Amino acid sequence: MNWFRRNAASQQSSQPSQVAQNIAPTPAPSEPTIRSQSGNAVPVISSTMMDYPLTVQFIFQRAKTLFPKRELVTVTADGYERSTFGEVCANAEKIAAALNIMGVKKGDRIATLAWNTTRHLELYMAIPTMGAVLHTLNLRLASDQLGFIIQDAADKIIFADADLLPLLEKCRPYMGSVERIVVMNGSAASQPADFPPILQYEDVIANAPTSFTWPELDEREAAAMCYTSGTTANPKGVVYSHRSVYLHASSLIMTDTIGLSGSDIAMPIVPMFHVNAWGLPHAAAMVGSKVVFPGKYMDPARIARAMADERVTLSAGVPTIWLGLVQFLEKNPTVDLSSIRYLVCGGSAAPSALIAALDKYNLKLLHAWGMTETSPIGSISRLKAGMESLSYTEQLAIRAKQGFPVPGVEIRIMNMETGKEAPWDGVSFGEIQIRGPWITGSYFHSENLEQGESKFIDGWFRTGDVATMDPDGYIQIVDRTKDVIKSGGEWISSVQLESIIMAHPRVAEAAVVGMPHPKWQERPVAAVVMKPDQPPMTLEELRTFLEPQVAKWWLPDAIVITSAIPKTSVGKFDKKILRSQLQDQVHLAD
Ligand code: ADP
Repeated sequence: MNWFRRNAASQQSSQPSQVAQNIAPTPAPSEPTIRSQSGNAVPVISSTMMDYPLTVQFIFQRAKTLFPKRELVTVTADGYERSTFGEVCANAEKIAAALNIMGVKKGDRIATLAWNTTRHLELYMAIPTMGAVLHTLNLRLASDQLGFIIQDAADKIIFADADLLPLLEKCRPYMGSVERIVVMNGSAASQPADFPPILQYEDVIANAPTSFTWPELDEREAAAMCYTSGTTANPKGVVYSHRSVYLHASSLIMTDTIGLSGSDIAMPIVPMFHVNAWGLPHAAAMVGSKVVFPGKYMDPARIARAMADERVTLSAGVPTIWLGLVQFLEKNPTVDLSSIRYLVCGGSAAPSALIAALDKYNLKLLHAWGMTETSPIGSISRLKAGMESLSYTEQLAIRAKQGFPVPGVEIRIMNMETGKEAPWDGVSFGEIQIRGPWITGSYFHSENLEQGESKFIDGWFRTGDVATMDPDGYIQIVDRTKDVIKSGGEWISSVQLESIIMAHPRVAEAAVVGMPHPKWQERPVAAVVMKPDQPPMTLEELRTFLEPQVAKWWLPDAIVITSAIPKTSVGKFDKKILRSQLQDQVHLAD
């Protein structure tokens, strides 16, 4: 109700009551209402703000007009290939025009099977901006799984790096929907029979009109899609909207999240085929950060060299990448990485020993948590004001947690047995549930997915991650629901055990899984990779090392020394495979 009407009403009420009854007041025009939390309709005034669509077109336009000279670099076999946002946007415009001529319509899925390169960035810009859906394919998947994904998404065109064509050829039985293959970063040796026509990326650009009239897009239209890497189940498709990509990219440029800025030189080591390289390409285009793409060169020596040569300020990858970097620096301590502001780490828990090891080289690890379904950033562990006065050990413990929710998303920890929210005491644990504008509300083709407990509840997404929440709101992952070790009715966190074991000076990597036990249902077993030239660790040694740090019943029942721990397509411990490997080697008795 506005001020004028309220005054008019109070004047009427001052009239003699008889008159008031005879002269009915003019009814107020109906006002828009919203529902309050108690369910009542509450009047609101309409906002006067423009309903401006949040789309990737906006990001593209900024990169093209504001940062055309900003450099983009790709690591190649013999050096670096250099480009700019201006060139990338010009090529993206031509690709969009060519796709339009090829008959690509709004909503069509256009896939990429590619390393992190400038070409890939061109497609990140072209495909969503022309209204199609950028479907990034995970090049580390087995051909059957990859084929399933191509078929499920009904991809129309696939842009593939030349060296990945042999993998694509193996997917031939699943490629019924694919009309063309466009080869990048090299050329195809031949045109295999029964294979969609192969075009060369450069030819497509050369023959394309130089400009394209972008279609009008609704921010809720699909912009990109990615399948989960299927660590614990079959891959499921997540479809990102323009709005979610835009808002997620905006969150990465907030100072209290990753704080990516135009003056940064970013190096996304996290693959562009996995959850949009954690949103970095779009965020970099939004603010004009220089980007150094590692191409297919993921070994620590090449990464470190590129970081030093290009004066990288911010990079992002899974813990195994940073473990590799530490081991490289131990042997090559003079490599100058002083330009680095942050190494963002996610995908698996960052052990505190890793954070401390990087600290010694003045490299600050920023621990983040998220998943394909969450675009991916859900939480980041930054120290809050006042925490700088804590001891180094206390700070380390906080930095090793997965942090508190980034602005825009809400997280709650739900006790799986009672269905009630777990207290913020840092001890009680439950499932992480999350909601927000860049969290998925369903899966692609959900009607085809296996029936089971729904992943969605009361507008929240059930992550399947088990965590505690401390009084400051920091979450700490205990495990994935499927990896928690259940021993005699109590739960043991494999993630916490791994983090502690990896702090042992002779240990390179360690994974812990629950193995069947006749009395206790499950007991922890550690698979350990020793550092080069280190003698194998015995079970006694392991237990003595762990004893002061964990409850007695957490101590592993067996240790297996191995040369490598199996990893998933995105570099996480593959506990499904590890458990099946250990089945033959470990038989726990009472
Ligand atoms: P998939 O779900 O197929 O394995 P994702 O990359 O989406 O592929 O994996 C998301 C999962 O990775 C999360 O649910 C969580 O279990 C794990 N994860 C991500 N970041 C962290 C982190 N910082 N600490 C511990 N686990 C993490």
